[in-house]
Amino acid sequence: MDNQFDKLVIISSPSGGGKGTLISKLLSDLDNVWLSVSATSRQPREGDVDGKTYYFMTRDEFQEAVRNNGFLEWAEYSGNFYGTPLKHIEEHLNNGNVVLLEIEVQGAANVMKKCPGCHSVFIEPPSLEVLEQRLRGRATDSEESILKRMEAAVVELEQAKNYEKVIVNDDLEVAFQELKEYIKKVAN
Ligand code: 5GP
Repeated sequence: MDNQFDKLVIISSPSGGGKGTLISKLLSDLDNVWLSVSATSRQPREGDVDGKTYYFMTRDEFQEAVRNNGFLEWAEYSGNFYGTPLKHIEEHLNNGNVVLLEIEVQGAANVMKKCPGCHSVFIEPPSLEVLEQRLRGRATDSEESILKRMEAAVVELEQAKNYEKVIVNDDLEVAFQELKEYIKKVAN
C-alpha cells in the first residue's frame, strides 16, 4: 500500500511538555482517533492504570517482547524501557483511524525511518524554566527523576527540527486548537 502510514502521527515533547493533557483533550473532541498504549518497564506513578496509561512490564518481560519482535519501535529513556506494541496499530490504520504514538525522540526517529509518509508533531514548552516548573508542579517524580528529565529535555529540544510540525505549548487552549487543526487535516 502506498499511503500505508499516512494516518500515523507521532507526538513527542519533553516530559512535562503538556502532551498528555493535549492528547486527552484531542481524544475527547475527535472521533476516529486512537492512541496507542505503550509498554514500559518504569514503575507506575500515582494515577497510572495498567493497560490504559501503559502496559507495565518487568525489564525481563520487556526484553522478551523485543526478542519476539513485538514492538514497532522501542527505546531506553531515563533508565527505563518504552515501546510501541505492534498489535492493533495495523488494524486501526486499516480501519481508517488516525493512530497517535506518544513517544520520545529516539523512538520517533525510528518510526520516521520505518514508516514513510507518517506525520509528526513536536510539542515545545515555552522555555526550559517553564518546563522545570511544570515537572515540579506535578509532584509525582523524585528529585533525581526531575533532574534526569530536564537533562533529557535539552537533548530532545534539539530534535524538534526533524518533525513536520512544531507547536509551542504556552497557552494550552491555543496549542490545543493548533494541534486539533493539524490532526483534522491528517484525518481527511
Ligand atoms: P513517562 O515516563 O513520563 O510516562 O514517559 C517518558 C517518555 O517516554 C515520554 O517522552 C513518552 O512520550 C515516552 N514514551 C512513552 N511511550 C513510549 C514508547 O512506546 N516508545 C518510546 N520510544 N517512547 C515512549
